[in-house]
Amino acid sequence: MKDAHNTELTTRNSFMREAIALSHEGMNKGAGGPFGAVVVRNGEIIARGYNRVLETNDPTCHAEVDAIRKASAFLGHFHLEDCELYTSCEPCPMCLGAVYWSRIKTVYYGNTKADAAAIGFDDQFIYEELDRPIRDRSLSMERLLGDEAAAVFNDWAKQANKKLY
Ligand SMILES: [Zn+2]
Repeated sequence: MKDAHNTELTTRNSFMREAIALSHEGMNKGAGGPFGAVVVRNGEIIARGYNRVLETNDPTCHAEVDAIRKASAFLGHFHLEDCELYTSCEPCPMCLGAVYWSRIKTVYYGNTKADAAAIGFDDQFIYEELDRPIRDRSLSMERLLGDEAAAVFNDWAKQANKKLY
């Protein structure tokens, strides 16, 4: 039993090592911050990603999002419930949201968000913002044309054969 556990741990460590290697690769290429991730399904890596914010000028292209997009494209599906995510750092709130939307059930991480904050990637303020009522956030948000927007929601609600996800 202990051997089986050790084998499992060795396998997990090898996936994490790949995520860490990708964080190194992305950093060395100047693609973005030092963050890498892999998506694993049935014991195999199906997608690899790293932070490409600088390379793509896309502020959402974090390693986890990059890997999730590639995994979904590879599988031809928007749900990854039978997949695991290995990321070199604890996910930020955006990536955590992407993980939930993808239905990934398990996340393994290397560095913690405190480690990320220590090198200048502090997402703690986003976590704190989420806890605040909208009016108390640093982001200005105002509701406009709620009735007109709701009309489309009503159409959606009435639609037969819609694909729920
Ligand atoms: Zn992120």
